[in-house]
Amino acid sequence: MARQHEALIVGAGGAGLWAALELAKAGVDTAVLTKLYPTRSHTGAAQGGVCAALGNQEEDHWEWHMFDTIKGGDYLVDQDAAEILAREAIETVIELEHMGLPFNRTPDGRIDQRRFGGHTRNFGEGPVRRACYAVDRTGHMILQTLYQQCIKHGVKFYDEYHVVDLLSEGGDLGSGGRAAGVIAYRIADGEMHVIRSKAVLMATGGFGRMFRITSNAWSLTGDGAALTYRHGVPMQDMEFYQFHPTGIVGIGILLSEAARGEGGTLLNDAGERFMERYAPTLMELAPRDMVSRAMYQEIRAGRGIGGRDWVYLDVRHLGRKVIEEKLADITEFARIYQGVEPITEPVPVQPTAHYAMGGIPTDNDTRVIRDEHNTPVPGLYAAGECACVSVHGANRLGTNSLVDLLVFGRRAGRRMALDVKGVGMPDVAADVQEPVVGEIERLRSARAGENAAGIRKELADVMMDNVGVYRDEALLTEARTRVRELRDRYSRVAVMDKGRTFNTDLLEAREVGYLLDCAETTVAAALARRESRGAHAREDFPDRDDASWLVHSLAYRAEGGPVLRTKPVTITTFQPKPRTY
Ligand SMILES: Cc1cc2nc3c(=O)[nH]c(=O)nc-3n(C[C@H](O)[C@H](O)[C@H](O)COP(=O)(O)OP(=O)(O)OC[C@H]3O[C@@H](n4cnc5c(N)ncnc54)[C@H](O)[C@@H]3O)c2cc1C
Repeated sequence: MARQHEALIVGAGGAGLWAALELAKAGVDTAVLTKLYPTRSHTGAAQGGVCAALGNQEEDHWEWHMFDTIKGGDYLVDQDAAEILAREAIETVIELEHMGLPFNRTPDGRIDQRRFGGHTRNFGEGPVRRACYAVDRTGHMILQTLYQQCIKHGVKFYDEYHVVDLLSEGGDLGSGGRAAGVIAYRIADGEMHVIRSKAVLMATGGFGRMFRITSNAWSLTGDGAALTYRHGVPMQDMEFYQFHPTGIVGIGILLSEAARGEGGTLLNDAGERFMERYAPTLMELAPRDMVSRAMYQEIRAGRGIGGRDWVYLDVRHLGRKVIEEKLADITEFARIYQGVEPITEPVPVQPTAHYAMGGIPTDNDTRVIRDEHNTPVPGLYAAGECACVSVHGANRLGTNSLVDLLVFGRRAGRRMALDVKGVGMPDVAADVQEPVVGEIERLRSARAGENAAGIRKELADVMMDNVGVYRDEALLTEARTRVRELRDRYSRVAVMDKGRTFNTDLLEAREVGYLLDCAETTVAAALARRESRGAHAREDFPDRDDASWLVHSLAYRAEGGPVLRTKPVTITTFQPKPRTY
């Protein structure tokens, strides 16, 4: 007999935990499944802050935040969603404070706020202090706070259960069926569990591991987006993947934008603050897509440090006190991973793959939609980085992801609590797990075959080299061919570990399959979009083209590669304008 819970949450990052908390508070029997121990979720690595127009340091308004989000996203943002984000940011941050989150404080005891890229006063006049923060460990504090609250409110946790498939009733999820639960593989012993549910939330985080140089944890392999895609739900806006300007050279570990928010500068080989040429008003605090492109331009012009492919992040002038009190962790990262002392030396940095603007399409209540007419999939929800509402459009602003988790995680929980009331527990067939058990057993039992780690590495190389900050037709066409070849090789993967106890070899092989799904949709959508917008920079189509391309892309799974469709962007308040900073 399958287990059951009224609501299931897949993923224990900020989005999943806040949704679970909301459900538990509403008296709904709720369980969270997570492949990592909950407090190891990537939300815990978020450094710089979470934005909300509290106005604690200077005048600020949610309307300014809404505008910055839309302009930052190069006008591909759905403006009704951005309004929700900017308005509800304020109450969710205060709610977190009341849950006990230890924010940094102003001298008079209010939540302290600092600057972050693309956040401005009065519709673009200059930088504003909007990011609330707890040193440079904001995500860690959010995750710990929410986890404690979930425990307090009796949320059930399935720790280290890897969800390997989704269940539906009355047809597949992409063709009218209703979500009915999940199939999960218990990592400790390889046992398969079928868990029925009236409502399932995907909150599985991003997929930065498609790329060689990334700030993302090893576990960020796009599981949720890939699983829904395999059941007929499209992936939205996959061509938009953000490269963060300041990764540690060669390994991509992040040095938060908070360093620039506190006044850090970027220097080229000649010691120039080169951002003067690209964004004269906001300089280093321009949005990330622009700063990453500017760095590449400098490097291409031979002005990288020593002619190499990096520049300097300089915080020396901030002084020891600011560096140690407000940028403590990232200073340690520079010391440990680079052997550089930021108090006395500039730190070498290069762009690192960081954030997925695209993902599982949803409406403003986090209900997953399956087509361009916004038809909801009954019982299925998505929130956090795996989802695409879309509040980030073509490029996310710094600190807007944590607030997305809070606002849409909370909305997910509230909506699910309402929806589960009116429906019965779905039925699932007794042998429903057979297909996925078959797939996993094939991986385990194959005597010889392709090596999944090798495919993962080659995929990360081709995505980095051909689908990175700059793209063109030739690079993308080559990437499409290479990803297809890797897919073909993937069908012959064999894992070496034949055991059932903690078989990470097996699960990583499964994750490579998810990364391939994300990569094929990213490449297809990037090839189709013949313009440059936000994080998608085509050298062969350098201009934004609102007449043809002010639309979201939807990539559907099909034999022979993804099929693409488009859907309109919701514009309520701000008409697209040229994007200068
Ligand atoms: C280094 C770094 C710094 C950042 N700093 C900031 C910042 O300062 N401000 C900001 O706004 N944003 C920041 N971001 C972005 C932000 O942290 C993330 O977008 C956000 O935390 C994602 O949260 P999430 O809840 O969607 O998922 P995550 O926190 O990534 O959690 C994903 C969860 O899904 C689970 N999961 C995944 N697949 C499966 C599966 N198959 N079965 C079961 N469970 C599964 C995992 O176990 C995990 O619990 C940063 C990101 C990084 C990488």
